[in-house]
Amino acid sequence: MSKDKKTAGQELEKELTYKKRNFYEVSDDEKIKKAYDYAENYKKFIDDSKTEREAVRTSAKLCEAKGYKEYRFGDKLEKGGKYYFNNRNKSFVAFKIGSENVCKDGIRLLASHIDSPRLDIKQNPLYEDSSMAFLKTHYYGGIKKYQWTAIPLALHGTVVLKNGKSVDIAIGDNDGDPVFYVNDLLPHLSREQVTKPLSQAIDGETLNVLVGGLPFKDDEVKESIKLTVLNKLREMYGMEESDFLSAELCVVPAFKARDIGFDRALVGGYGHDDRVCSYPALTALLDSDDDKHTVMVVLADKEEIGSEGVSGMQCKVYEDIIDIISAYFGVPSALTRANSVCLSADVTAGYDPNFAGVFEKKNSSLVSYGTSICKFTGSGGKGGSSDASAELCGRIRKIFDDNDIVWQTAELGKVDAGGGGTVAKYIAKLNIDTI
Ligand code: MN
Repeated sequence: MSKDKKTAGQELEKELTYKKRNFYEVSDDEKIKKAYDYAENYKKFIDDSKTEREAVRTSAKLCEAKGYKEYRFGDKLEKGGKYYFNNRNKSFVAFKIGSENVCKDGIRLLASHIDSPRLDIKQNPLYEDSSMAFLKTHYYGGIKKYQWTAIPLALHGTVVLKNGKSVDIAIGDNDGDPVFYVNDLLPHLSREQVTKPLSQAIDGETLNVLVGGLPFKDDEVKESIKLTVLNKLREMYGMEESDFLSAELCVVPAFKARDIGFDRALVGGYGHDDRVCSYPALTALLDSDDDKHTVMVVLADKEEIGSEGVSGMQCKVYEDIIDIISAYFGVPSALTRANSVCLSADVTAGYDPNFAGVFEKKNSSLVSYGTSICKFTGSGGKGGSSDASAELCGRIRKIFDDNDIVWQTAELGKVDAGGGGTVAKYIAKLNIDTI
């Protein structure tokens, strides 16, 4: 028997069994180069979008470059119109009006989030102690506190001065910028600290950011280091201490996105969760030449703390936009939503052999094996999850397979190891099929 000829069993095996595909293994050089080129722009996007406010600004620029116009409530929609909606500088919606009435196929939705865990500066943050000035922080989202000590940090945000003017701050990322630090304890005096569980080794109230150490030369001044910092803040941003009361300042890692590995196979950077989905969602819309369907991309805020508030996915503003689009087509919003489909895009856990114990490999997302589709999220017995139907899985699977997309399914870790959720369930609540 010739070597090329497969046995009946081998043929049957090929026909019946399922195997995940590694993108690099099944793609030609041209396709791989395209992925690398795309990643260059993605790196730029995350460097420019370290907070949700910056992500909104960057996204608006990308939209404008593709002819999208800013939409404000009250504006009239136009046939074939391309719009973006800036929700309070914190969340973002881009949408394109299709030629086909939404009563039939609804809206094609993509949803992701643009906030990431970080340290927020408190409202009354500045103090000096033992020849150092610090800003007190309140962490935002599920951080592992020890990761935030002893690394270079940048300060990003917006201050509303007492005269009502807004000032944007972004300092620490560029060569020549100063950076900031959260002090850690030196190993020599860590005998007690290192015996504590990771969750307790760093106390939330010790995540104070070091911002100064130079005394203002005047013997009559009690807190001379604090005064130097305030003097600098006035010089640089026109602010004084009370302006912290009306500020949103975030402390984020000062690194820029970098390639990882000799072969540059991976990208390391702050805030992949969830800009690694936000950027593809937005560029998919901007690069699409489909004029038939109405498509809408939601980049939500506050996912990391439960999708709350006026910028989170639970806010009615996104449904309001669906209502407005429906009204344009003369269709009840309920009908539009019933026929819509949403890809809720967020990060999942990639299998890591260094922490094999928390994964179940057969149902884990493998690095380089393509986009992961999660039928459900949640924790324990799928608690808190929006579980997509077999019908929706089938519909998405067919689209991917028909277009030779490398993809895989995934669960976030093994059963009972932890878990998580995302914005999917809030969209599903609107009677929109969501995966
Ligand atoms: Mn996320």
